[in-house]
Parts: sequence; structure tokens; C-alpha cells
Amino acid sequence: MNTIEFYNDWKWQIANRISTLDQLEEYIALTREEQAAFEGEIPLSFAVTPHYASLLKNDALRKTVIPTDRENKVGTGELADPLGEEDHRATPHLIHTYPDKVLFLATTFCSTYCRYCTRSRMVGKPLEFDVSTFDETFQYIEEHTEIRDVLISGGDPLTMTDSVLDELLSRVRNIPHVRMVRIGSKVPVVLPQRITGELCSILRKHRVWLSLHFIHAAELSPETQTACRILSDHGIGMVSQTVLLKGVNDDTQSLIDLFYGLLEINVKPYYLLQCDPVQGSEHFRTSVEKGIELIQSLHGHICGLAVPQYVIDAPGGGGKVPILGKEQIRREGDDVVFLNYLGKEYRYPDPL
Ligand code: SF4
Repeated sequence: MNTIEFYNDWKWQIANRISTLDQLEEYIALTREEQAAFEGEIPLSFAVTPHYASLLKNDALRKTVIPTDRENKVGTGELADPLGEEDHRATPHLIHTYPDKVLFLATTFCSTYCRYCTRSRMVGKPLEFDVSTFDETFQYIEEHTEIRDVLISGGDPLTMTDSVLDELLSRVRNIPHVRMVRIGSKVPVVLPQRITGELCSILRKHRVWLSLHFIHAAELSPETQTACRILSDHGIGMVSQTVLLKGVNDDTQSLIDLFYGLLEINVKPYYLLQCDPVQGSEHFRTSVEKGIELIQSLHGHICGLAVPQYVIDAPGGGGKVPILGKEQIRREGDDVVFLNYLGKEYRYPDPL
């Protein structure tokens, strides 16, 4: 293979991930603060694909993947497991929080690690993901006939091989009461070379929806646009989840640019997520009031299809709560208090 063929091969992209300071400095000049983060122990997993590294001249993107020492600080109310997923772990690979939906943790591997990841407690760390270890999980889903919606996530499942994915999806699709199968992934953004015709055929065969993770219009590289168009041409439904991040996308124009850009490649903006209070995320988190201000600056002002739901994932496992206006929340000191879909009160730590 020549250089371009290597670059366009997703396995080459993974094998040549940037995971050290020296490798990163071949792509961009780091600030002193960024260099300093590599001198101590980096608490969250670090790796970036060569493709995503090529986009890091953009300041917004570099903040989301390059470590800083600010992630060593544990802010007020921050937790390793902010959504209380471990309390709802039904099998080693399955989180069962909502009545009819389960989260299938298929891998802990991502090709690129986000500094604000809700599952930073596990991503990049060992977890068996051979299909043979999934039996207990399939059995659980088979026995719980109330489960209609299976979200396969991790880690990033689209980093698994075609044959492993095909087998996993076949087994989920063979469970008669499962009606919806989704995969959560950032692969079209950080590893667009993975979107091959063979992968699309597998996704189409199993009628999979993709729940993609975009945070900024600068991620809409020509390669990513092509990947999403290939997926769309294969009839794969796609929605996007965007985490609201301070200094990255917390202004109206950045959100408009991203959401219109997504519609242009057939990805429906689905959620604008208040950043979860995961350990080391304080420098990324905006106030809830800021999130409300931003979503209200979109409603009615831009195409309705381009407007996602602004949601807070209720800490402790209360589920996603759509927030439309300030009347839905009340402040109690450093907490924002709101009700979830069951009318139960939850608190989001939001220091003034
Ligand atoms: S791609 Fe998703 S699972 Fe992987 S590090 Fe980013 S947010 Fe976490």
C-alpha cells in the first residue's frame, strides 16, 4: 500500500494512534500547560487518531482531546460514575436504568478519548469483549421481555471488527421483543475510514440506528461528510448527541454551524447534553442557566429540525430530562433541582 492507502485504512489509523507527548508534538505545537499535563500521571485515557490529530489546529477541538492538569481537580459534586450506572449494572456488560431500554457496554476501547467522557472510569481500560463473554447479557435481555430498545455503546462499538459486530447484532436482533437497536459512536468523526461498504451492509442488515457524537462544526471534515453520506446512502438512520462544553461550543453561532452542518449530511441533531459532572470536568461545564439561554436562542430562530432537545442526564440514574425553560428548574445553593419523567427530584451540581 502507498502512504495514502495506509492513511485511508482504519486499522492503520488505530495502529498509529497518537498516545505520547512526542507523537502529539509532531502534529501541533503544544502550550506549556498542555505539555505540563504529560509530566505527571494523566488520570484519563489519552489517544487520538492521526485523522483527528490533523484537525487539532482548531482550538475548540484540541480542548476536547488534549489533557491539561485541570482534569486532576475534582470539582464540587463530581463523581467517577455521575449517572450511577454501576448501581444499575444487571450483568458485566449491561446497564438497565430505564424500564424498556438497556445500555450494552460492548467494549471499553475508543480510537480517540474525549476529556469529558462520562465513562472515563472505564474507557481505555481492560474489559473482556469477546462475543463469547456476552452470553449472560443476551440471556438477561431474552428473559426481560419489557426491553424493547438496546443501545450498544462502550467505548466505541464501531471499533470492533465486522465479524464481531455482525455476530453481536445478529444475537440481539434474534430476540423477538427487541424492536430498536442503536449503536453509540464517534467513529464517523474520529475514524471516518472505518465506514466501509462492508460495515454499512452489516448495519443495514440488522436495521441499526446510529447515535453519533459531534461537538463542533470543525469536526465536519470532508472525510466525515463522506462517511455520513455513505451511511445515509445505505439507509442507516443517524442522530447526533452534542455535549455542551465551555469554551468549545457554548455560543449560539457555534451551535447553529454544527446543527445545520449535520442536517446537510442527513444527521438529525437529537440531544444537546448538559455536561455530566464526571470527575475532572469542571473546566468544561457551563451553568444550566447558560444551557437554557442557548437553547432558547435557537428555538424559533432556526429550522426546527436543526434544534436538538437540551437535556440534563439526571445524576444518579434519573434519566434524561428535557429542559425548555427556567421555570422547570430551581436553584438551591450550588445545586440545580428538577423533576425527572417519573416526577422524582434530582440535583445537578452547578456551583455558582
Ligand atoms: S467517544 Fe464516547 S465513549 Fe469514547 S471517550 Fe469519547 S465520549 Fe467517551
